[in-house]
Amino acid sequence: MSQTKYIFVTGGVTSSLGKGIIAASLAKLLQAQNYRVTIQKFDPYINVDPGTLNPYEHGECYVTDDGAETDLDLGHYERFLNVKTSQANNVTTGRVYQNVIEKERRGEFLGKTVQVVPHITNEIKERMLLLGQSGDFDIIITEIGGTVGDIESLPYIEAVRQLIWDLGDENAMVIHLTLVPFLSAAGELKTKPTQHSVKTLMESGVKANVLVCRTEHHISDDIKRKLALFCNVKPEAVIQSIDAETIYDVPLLMKEEGLDQVVLNTLNLDPNKTHDLEEWEAFLKKYKNPKHTIEIGLVGKYVELQDSYKSILEAINHAGAVNETKVNVHSIHSEHLQTQEVKEKLKGLDGILVAPGFGERGIEGKIDAIRYARENKIPFFGICLGMQMAVIEHARNVMGLADANSTEMNTACAHPVIGLMEDQKEVTHKGGTMRLGAWKCDLLPNSIVAEVYGDKTIEERHRHRFELNNEYKKALEDSGLKATGVNPDTGLVEIVENNDHPWFVGVQYHPEYKSTVLNPHPLFVAFISAALQNKKEK
Ligand code: GLN
Repeated sequence: MSQTKYIFVTGGVTSSLGKGIIAASLAKLLQAQNYRVTIQKFDPYINVDPGTLNPYEHGECYVTDDGAETDLDLGHYERFLNVKTSQANNVTTGRVYQNVIEKERRGEFLGKTVQVVPHITNEIKERMLLLGQSGDFDIIITEIGGTVGDIESLPYIEAVRQLIWDLGDENAMVIHLTLVPFLSAAGELKTKPTQHSVKTLMESGVKANVLVCRTEHHISDDIKRKLALFCNVKPEAVIQSIDAETIYDVPLLMKEEGLDQVVLNTLNLDPNKTHDLEEWEAFLKKYKNPKHTIEIGLVGKYVELQDSYKSILEAINHAGAVNETKVNVHSIHSEHLQTQEVKEKLKGLDGILVAPGFGERGIEGKIDAIRYARENKIPFFGICLGMQMAVIEHARNVMGLADANSTEMNTACAHPVIGLMEDQKEVTHKGGTMRLGAWKCDLLPNSIVAEVYGDKTIEERHRHRFELNNEYKKALEDSGLKATGVNPDTGLVEIVENNDHPWFVGVQYHPEYKSTVLNPHPLFVAFISAALQNKKEK
């Protein structure tokens, strides 16, 4: 296929309708018909990337192999498509303006007034076409963050309008995701908000080709016809997106509604190829028909917002399916975990996962939870800050170094068992300066991780500034906490394991980012399996 096709996904009426899931589901259906598809996300905020955002703002920050700190929707894209994303798949307004201003400073627009139209919109258009120019993809799906009608979305909508004009109707189209609310007092689904949001899009000269309507109730044919007539789309282009039991049902629901068929027709692509969704369906079958149930504690300080730990929760779902186990995840707020109530709050758990994080808030609760897991031989999985806290717990309670800490929390502590990485010491800027992306790690033979990965060297994604202080490595190992994974080039400790425990693993990296439906992460699979084993032995 020579001409790359472009699909733009916009959102109307409200935010949080799940544009990312719809985009990923459509991509999955097109991929199942042998099209090479990728998804990119354009976010209208001014941050250059979401790396400096608190998870309460937009949920977790996802990290790609090439070290981009991105919107969490890229995680959905990778989990659904099993294809890696990169720096190029996420662009923010901040990044767009940064590039344009740098060009202006270099003199590239010499003599001209630099304006939103055409300079910002041209920059957006260039970025929208970038992945398509690689020749690696037949179809590029572009998700526009935010809601149509927002001031900050306008340059993106204008860029979409121009691109459709440039590329032609057969090569570019718009899917508009809206909400069809149900008014219980009237006992009716209401179409007006959708009509208005389609009209708002039209005011910017953009016509929606397909409407995907989020709804809590079935949308009748009559309402679909009404939506089609008043929103100026074909009746078959009104797609119902009803609340699903799991996000992994959405591709199949979209297939039933014929979303992929309408899209292929609109783009003049051959719609008659067969679907290859066998593995996906096999996953769903296992996921929905578990034979066992376990209870896992997720200890973190952002637990109020589910999206903060999105990739971890999804990796647990993938691993649960592999183990044919329903995993009930209990969110435990580390800040509210007082030492005296640890037993009360953690008893009955089959496994404990301590989450990544930054800063001092809630760390003592994490350390107490790890102590409980270690002493009671409950499978423990520590990720990033969770691993660092496991090192501190061991130093304090096994080695007797009461004042052990991370210099992130206390620069003056007597035993800085976790310290700032050497190359971070000169860093002053916060944005994009952590140790990011995929790094190599050699695994110690005969360790848990060597068995789990079935490999000698692995590559995992990182996002941190602090590390295990190698001055304490020997003492930690002599007292039972082994470094079982080390970066071959720098000697940084990436994995620790406690030998005196059935399953106690802490990793400096983020394995959750690489878990997908078709490739569940082996460490999560092993952790869930250890927790299941623990339950059986109880
Ligand atoms: N705050 C710790 C560090 O920067 C851990 C980071 C994380 O958990 N992602 O090293």
